[in-house]
Parts: sequence; structure tokens; C-alpha cells
Amino acid sequence: MSTIRVAIDGPSGAGKSTLARAAAAALGFLYVDTGAIYRTVGLSARDQGVDPGDETAVAAMLPALQVELRYDEAGRQRMLLNNRDVSEEIRLPEISRYASAVSALPVVRAYLMETQRELARKNNVVMDGRDIGTVILPDAEVKIFLTASAQVRAERRCRELVERGTPQPFEEVLQDIEDRDFRDTHREAAPLRQAEGAALLDTSALDFQQSLEALLGMIRERTGL
Ligand code: C5P
Repeated sequence: MSTIRVAIDGPSGAGKSTLARAAAAALGFLYVDTGAIYRTVGLSARDQGVDPGDETAVAAMLPALQVELRYDEAGRQRMLLNNRDVSEEIRLPEISRYASAVSALPVVRAYLMETQRELARKNNVVMDGRDIGTVILPDAEVKIFLTASAQVRAERRCRELVERGTPQPFEEVLQDIEDRDFRDTHREAAPLRQAEGAALLDTSALDFQQSLEALLGMIRERTGL
């Protein structure tokens, strides 16, 4: 039996992962956060003192790497690196930079492609990332490009940082978001762009509940669920 695949791409800070997770829960689908997979490879580079921009060195590290996805009883995705649970560690800001660097390497993208496709062959999925609708699952039943203006994404990120007790100046946060957008859209390997046939969902003027309703509406309309 074939599975239903929902591919969600978009820039960082658009609320993709929170929305995709909530949509998956509402539909009873598996949520796959592919950014966490790239973060795990980035963490491994850091642990081994490998320069994340050096394709030869990173390629040499890959064969011995064991990157596994697990789901806990609450259905949350956990990442295992060589049998060690690294789900919290991969969220460190330093690891965002490592993930961004290793994810620009074609050898890394090729290495992780089959893992992502296999998950979507075995499960109904909501998968989020940067190239899910363009490269990983180009024939997904539903493709969505989820975005918000850089200004709004920076405001949301600032609020999150305050809640975590680690506030940062707005200008710095905005600059960081604009830099990441530039890198993600200008890299040669699988640059971020709206996939052919993807619906655009701009959440700039929507709150979380409105965004979720809009997202579920798009998925239901396209799958008849
Ligand atoms: O989404 P998240 O911030 O966790 O992603 C971490 C890094 O991995 C980002 O820099 C992003 O460019 C990269 N990434 C990617 N392809 C994906 C998911 C994430 O290149 N499918």
C-alpha cells in the first residue's frame, strides 16, 4: 500500500517544525524533522574535530557514522548518534553552524537521501526541511512552502529567546536569519526554493492556531482526508 507524503519546506524560523509536528499529530502521521538529521552529522563533525566545510574530511567520517531516528512513547523524534541520544545537544547554537556547513556538502546530502526516502515509503509522513519537495520527495502528494517575512521570523525568535532566558538584540537575530536565508538559497547543493506544484503558506499575519488551520486545510484539500 502506498503512503501519503506531506513535504514542507521553508526558511529557518518560519515555524515549520512546530506546525509540521502539530499537523502530523492531528493526522496521525509520522513527523520527520530532517534538520535534526543534518544537525546530528554536524555534531559528529564537531566531536571528531572535523572541519565541517572540508568535503573530503567529512566524507571520510560518514561510513563509520551511525545516525538513527527513534520515536519515544510521546511520539517525539529522538536522534541517536552511535547509540548516544543527542536530541538536546544538537539544538546548541554552535551546532546550527556545523549543520549549516555540512548540509551544503553534496556528499552529505546524498548520504542522507535514502534514510529520508525510506521513512516516507514505510509511513504516512509530514516531513520538513529545505529540499523535501524539490529533491527528496518530488512526487509527494502534498507539497507546501511555508514562510514568513524575515522581520516576523526575527520577532518570533526574539520572543523565544526571552522565554528561554537567553535574550539577544533584535538586529543581531534579524541579521542571523538573513545570513542563513542567503546561505540556504544560494548554495549549489539543493538550494532552498519553492518546489514545482508546491502551495505557498505565508504565516506573517497569522498566529499559531490560524497557521495550523491553514496548513491542515491545504493538506485535507489535497488528500481528501
Ligand atoms: O531546520 P534546522 O535549523 O534544524 O536545520 C539545520 C540546518 O540543516 C540548516 O542550516 C539547514 O540549512 C540544513 N537543512 C538542510 N536540509 C534539510 C533540513 C535542514 O540543508 N532538509
